[in-house]
Amino acid sequence: MDTRTTARPAELGRLIDDAARAVEQRVIAWRRDFHQHPELGNRETRTAAIVADHLRSLGFDEVKTGVAHTGVVGLLKGGRPGLVVALRADMDALPVTEDVDVPFASKERTVWNGEDVGVMHACGHDCHTAILMGVASVLAGLREQLRGSVKVIFQPAEEMPPKGEDGGAKMMIQEGALQNPTPQAIFGLHVTSRQNVGFLGYRSGPTMASSDRFSITVHGRQTHGAAPWLGVDPIVTSAQVVLGLQTVVSRGVDIAREPAVVTVGMIRGGVRENIIPDSVEMRGTIRTFDEGMRDDVHERVTTLAESVAHGSRAGCTVCIEKNYPVTVNDPALTAEMLPTLQRVAGADKVQLVAKVTGSEDFSYFQKLVPGLFFFVGATRPDLDPAKAPANHSPRFHVDERALLLGMRSLAHLACDWLEAH
Ligand SMILES: [Zn+2]
Ligand SMILES: [Zn+2]
Repeated sequence: MDTRTTARPAELGRLIDDAARAVEQRVIAWRRDFHQHPELGNRETRTAAIVADHLRSLGFDEVKTGVAHTGVVGLLKGGRPGLVVALRADMDALPVTEDVDVPFASKERTVWNGEDVGVMHACGHDCHTAILMGVASVLAGLREQLRGSVKVIFQPAEEMPPKGEDGGAKMMIQEGALQNPTPQAIFGLHVTSRQNVGFLGYRSGPTMASSDRFSITVHGRQTHGAAPWLGVDPIVTSAQVVLGLQTVVSRGVDIAREPAVVTVGMIRGGVRENIIPDSVEMRGTIRTFDEGMRDDVHERVTTLAESVAHGSRAGCTVCIEKNYPVTVNDPALTAEMLPTLQRVAGADKVQLVAKVTGSEDFSYFQKLVPGLFFFVGATRPDLDPAKAPANHSPRFHVDERALLLGMRSLAHLACDWLEAH
């Protein structure tokens, strides 16, 4: 029997908004601090320490650190019995040299995969971390009225760990981030240049693409460029492979169901104009929105490259490395929570957005727990989002009014879901 005093849902909503406004300036300060001190994947030690200290200062019931290297998982138990909802933020920056004129611009440099690089929060994960810290403050302040528990997941290495290391959402799950307790729903957000500040974007079902990389090596036989009949030319064969790959999607994929992309982004072979080389290497990326189509495209890329090479009497090695799965928003959860997003942002400010061919490792959480991943517009109102520097650009710039909206969105989603279940 629940004997504590409880706020009515509408009243709880007002308390969330008041608390979010009260913490907004701190959230902006955290975001600027993270922005000025960005850390690459699996190196987010400073960021994670600030996060963990904050959760402890709020009296979180559990704060686990070092999950998947630098991840932090916090648990806040509400004053009323209920289920468990999870909220996730990613913490890592990118090897990008910042080109934005703000006082808190990053001057950091580091060595990444053996190269000296600038470091920048060019994807906005500084915002995500600050937003979730703000949500933690809001919910901790309302914990007596809170039904159930909220698990906050601060994740490293969303942009892929360094070569030779494990990391990210998959590793957090392997290390128990979704256990003890297991959440029944999970929410995450991403700031985006593609919408103006004040707007939210959502999509039901497949929302962001799977991302896989491939390498194809065509093995010929080296000979003089003046006497090609004495060898096997891997350059001409590779040209045929590249052109053949253009038919994988255009002739083989049911684009009325889901789109797909096959891109060759690198080709390397030969040292001199009069030598036909021994081999040519190509690398590329495959994006799909359906796991079955993903397997089909992999099979088509492999057989096409092997068959073309075979037809030219060359050998061929195809290697496809599966990276992130399709980000699929649970349709029932999306339909259920859409009114919450509309109430928070205003009904005319929530936009159904197109599929995104970028990928997200939030998808690993969604494979195990129904999840909703949505977008928070971050482009200044006077700029056209189609022309604003995109996420990952050295000129990516966030209108910080997005932080309050992101914070309110996550806090309301968590409370509304917990109240309804
Ligand atoms: Zn990114
Ligand atoms: Zn990102």
